Amino acid sequence: MTVFESVLDGIGGTPLVRLRRLGARFRPRIYAKLEFQNIGGSVKDRAALSMIRAAEREGLLRPGGTVVEGTSGNTGIGLAMVAAQLGYRAVIFAPAATAGEKVRLLRAYGAEVHLVADFVPRDHPGHLASRAAAYTGATPGAWLAQQYDNPANPAAHWHTTGPEIWDDTEGSVTHLVASVGTGGTLSGTGGFLKDASGGSVRVVAADPEHSRYGGGDGALKYVEGAGHALHPESVEDIWPEAFDTGVVDQYIRVSDRDAIFTARRAAREEGLLTGATGGTALAAALTLAEGLDESHTIVVVLPDSGRNYLSTYFDDGWLASLGFLEPVSPRGTVRSLL
Ligand code: PMP
Repeated sequence: MTVFESVLDGIGGTPLVRLRRLGARFRPRIYAKLEFQNIGGSVKDRAALSMIRAAEREGLLRPGGTVVEGTSGNTGIGLAMVAAQLGYRAVIFAPAATAGEKVRLLRAYGAEVHLVADFVPRDHPGHLASRAAAYTGATPGAWLAQQYDNPANPAAHWHTTGPEIWDDTEGSVTHLVASVGTGGTLSGTGGFLKDASGGSVRVVAADPEHSRYGGGDGALKYVEGAGHALHPESVEDIWPEAFDTGVVDQYIRVSDRDAIFTARRAAREEGLLTGATGGTALAAALTLAEGLDESHTIVVVLPDSGRNYLSTYFDDGWLASLGFLEPVSPRGTVRSLL
């Protein structure tokens, strides 16, 4: 399709790109699915549109209504974009540490943004989910998207991302690798691919090493948008309903450093600019590829663009301040430790 009737037609239909250089020394074919090609810039455009359409169908969101969500950015951007097109207000609660570029994007799409304390227990009234829920309860016509528990989130990927990968690989995909935030991408896409392949596609969750999903302690640090954190004072470890853990065959844990450096390598070696969740998924895909052969085809999901992180993951000063880069000259030039 080359003529869109609205921006909503620019959601989905993203390309697969063969990793010719990063994947050169491995036997399987490795393809990246470029989710930053969605018109709002990330994989979350799909979930945003799907959740808003479901809320309209169910009568939860009516003309003149307000879309509300607690989100670290991309879901908010998707919701704000779709809301702008369909004439809804958007009110987004985001953690204070969210990359500045994402906050500015939300405001550019006309959303009202409330920055909230970063790392508080899930059951605390100051947690962004509680703040978003309280706001929704007090605002007539407001609807809370609740991406973590909303079935329309994984359904978006079952109906679009999965079939696109199946069709574009002509059914030859054998492994799906994606990072897990709400789990919508992995559960919906992986669920569809398993169904389409009669159960043979292997679904691999690429997880930050401290994430609870893959067995870490929950003390997440620098990978923005994926993994499951657990505050030390939390009484309960609540996992999202959008994440169907039964779909996962394997978890591959990736350090923050590997995630960031793999994203940086992808930009330099493939011309592919992605964030640290894309870096996490790419690093996991390369680990997976070590043990596979020519009969295998890996598809790895790149959720968003590195343009969101030029002042963090792609900034040498930022990396050096974390000890990920070491100074080599008195003038402060830095050199990668890799
Ligand atoms: N990467 C980034 C940058 C994200 O914002 C998200 C969504 N939180 C994900 C990956 C994970 O997507 P999902 O919620 O579908 O698991």
